[in-house]
Amino acid sequence: MQQAQSIETRLQSAIKDVVGFPKPGILFKDISPIFLDAELCRDVTKEFVKQLRNIPDAICVIESRGFFFGMLIAQELQIPLIPLRKKGKLPGTVRSFTYDLEYGSATLEVQSNILKPGWNILIHDDVLATGGTAIAAAELVKAEGANVAEFCFLMSLDFLNGTEKLAGYATPVNSLVRF
Ligand code: AMP
Repeated sequence: MQQAQSIETRLQSAIKDVVGFPKPGILFKDISPIFLDAELCRDVTKEFVKQLRNIPDAICVIESRGFFFGMLIAQELQIPLIPLRKKGKLPGTVRSFTYDLEYGSATLEVQSNILKPGWNILIHDDVLATGGTAIAAAELVKAEGANVAEFCFLMSLDFLNGTEKLAGYATPVNSLVRF
């Protein structure tokens, strides 16, 4: 069925704000309702692909909410998917990148020698907030000898200026909804 509303409007209605989750002071953007609407998921996937400047060689997806649309995008493009996971989840030799959070730090890992040198990589996650997680992903891609070609997010929280921080790595930085 042809939808009259834009993807942006449909996502704005589906994404639910949860005050004070997972801790006080955070306005959590719950994307779970999107997955109840199969037609919206299909259209979101197509929109991600439509907004790409070039077809990437592979997509790197960030644990864990980047996995949902990451695999759909990979299948739509018929390209390899490489998961970037939290510390200790991936077997074998891994490359790690540790970055600062508001309180403490976090580590993202990729299995070594999976990314091919010179590959153009699309990095995907659900939410772009401060940009720290996406920068960690970009640093891992670069350290493995691949190129950060583009980023795509379901949404960006623009008041945290993540898009500007990613500009030094790759443009475009596409977000389907901005808050
Ligand atoms: P950041 O590193 O600050 O850009 O945060 C991005 C990561 O944290 C993503 O993997 C998101 O899933 C998660 N995240 C950050 N802020 C929120 C939020 N307000 N609602 C949901 N997820 C968030």
